[in-house]
Amino acid sequence: MTFTAILSALAEEQQGLLELLQQPQKINHAGRDFWQGSLYGQPVVLALSRIGKVAAATTATALIERFKVSRIVFTGVAGGLGAGVRVGDVVVATEFVQHDLDASPIFPRYEVPLYGQSRFACDAALSALLLAAGRASLQGLALSPTVTLHHGLIASGDRFVSGAQEAQALRESLQDQGHAVLAVEMEGAAVAQVCFDYGLPFAAVRTISDRADDQAHVDFPVFVRDVASLYAQAMVRQLLQSL
Ligand code: SAH
Repeated sequence: MTFTAILSALAEEQQGLLELLQQPQKINHAGRDFWQGSLYGQPVVLALSRIGKVAAATTATALIERFKVSRIVFTGVAGGLGAGVRVGDVVVATEFVQHDLDASPIFPRYEVPLYGQSRFACDAALSALLLAAGRASLQGLALSPTVTLHHGLIASGDRFVSGAQEAQALRESLQDQGHAVLAVEMEGAAVAQVCFDYGLPFAAVRTISDRADDQAHVDFPVFVRDVASLYAQAMVRQLLQSL
């Protein structure tokens, strides 16, 4: 059977999916709860990534090794870094880079040692479906016409970026190495690397909860509560119905 893993970043996002899960079965493994069942007619495993790259990598590995999932889809929130990426916008990832990985001068800045690359790509076909699901959801939710759906590079690192200066420095040093990033978060690149290792399709969508600036710590919780879970549910529904 083809199991799709839906990895949520936050309990608020997972809650709506859990309520809809048919024949739910909870399995505790590696100190985490995994939920097996069926969602919109598709066999799924729901899990929380937990926060940060290591926690997300452990969760992804468990999904693959223990639950034998065939693909992983991530939904979460992120800080907007690119110009024109505003709170409420949605970013479907094409690739991920780790903004806190620096083994220079032995390896080029941002390169993941021994992989010979700094970016890990999402699966093109699964991402195209996720992009279509995002577009349909935004129309369905009848949001303001200013909400934009972006498709591009996302940076991950073990840091909640919450300062305008820090955000600018991050954007510029990534840009200097040719990485034009749209958003910053804390897990995606880790899951992308695990999926690369196992040859598993991966796609990710992030709703912009803040601008990673001095307001980020205020914007983030409000957004998660009021908006992010609605977006995530709508997009997961559209995606699963299109698989
Ligand atoms: N106290 C919060 C902590 C969340 S950390 C809570 O548990 O509710 C922020 C989460 O959202 C991470 O999972 C990260 O992937 C994402 N995120 C949103 N805005 C971010 C930003 N500005 N910088 C880094 N990660 C961000």
